[in-house]
Amino acid sequence: MTIHYDHFKTISPLGDETSEQLLGMIGDAVRACRKCYLCEGRTNAVPGFGNAGARIMLIGEAPGKNEDLQGKPFVGAAGNYLTELLGYAGLTREEVFIANILKCRPPSNRNPQPDEIFECTPYLRDQVRAIMPEYIVTMGNFATKFILRTDRGITGLRGNLQKTGQFSVLPVFHPAAAIYDRTKREVLEADFVYLGRLLGNVPWEGDAPNDGR
Ligand code: SF4
Repeated sequence: MTIHYDHFKTISPLGDETSEQLLGMIGDAVRACRKCYLCEGRTNAVPGFGNAGARIMLIGEAPGKNEDLQGKPFVGAAGNYLTELLGYAGLTREEVFIANILKCRPPSNRNPQPDEIFECTPYLRDQVRAIMPEYIVTMGNFATKFILRTDRGITGLRGNLQKTGQFSVLPVFHPAAAIYDRTKREVLEADFVYLGRLLGNVPWEGDAPNDGR
């Protein structure tokens, strides 16, 4: 099932700088940012990390304790699991760019608040415009709802390729939510195999579906 959303419809690449330069500028702005209350409790802001020329951009929720300490997204147990998941798609971390909706850790890992999302997501939009990926993988409810501008939850959307503007969007469960849940793990791993098939890294079983792209 493919649904076409118009969020990001008018998005276009930023300026004349290279993607690396743009991501560097965005990272500097994030590290200096004091636009919301979350700057008070951070050890490090976590702008995002990865390949500026990536075909795939993965978007999670917010930094946790380890990410806050290291200034990098998806380190620790959830990060190790994400690396494993990328393997199901025939990908390595060096090939993708990983970012979050929020760039600073919420206290006690609570959910992002609407005002924090409002203040922080311009950085994410600029990262998308700097990279212009072919696929955006939204991990969990917050990334999926923001990117697709939908109230539909991740359980109903996961594994179904969507469109927003020129981007193909694959919503999946958040790795941290699946890490100790065998049922969710199986679903999440199957969704990464599907991503690998879309990318041509993993062979289709039978005929490839016509997903409208
Ligand atoms: S969470 Fe985002 S908006 Fe808030 S201080 Fe950090 S970088 Fe700035």
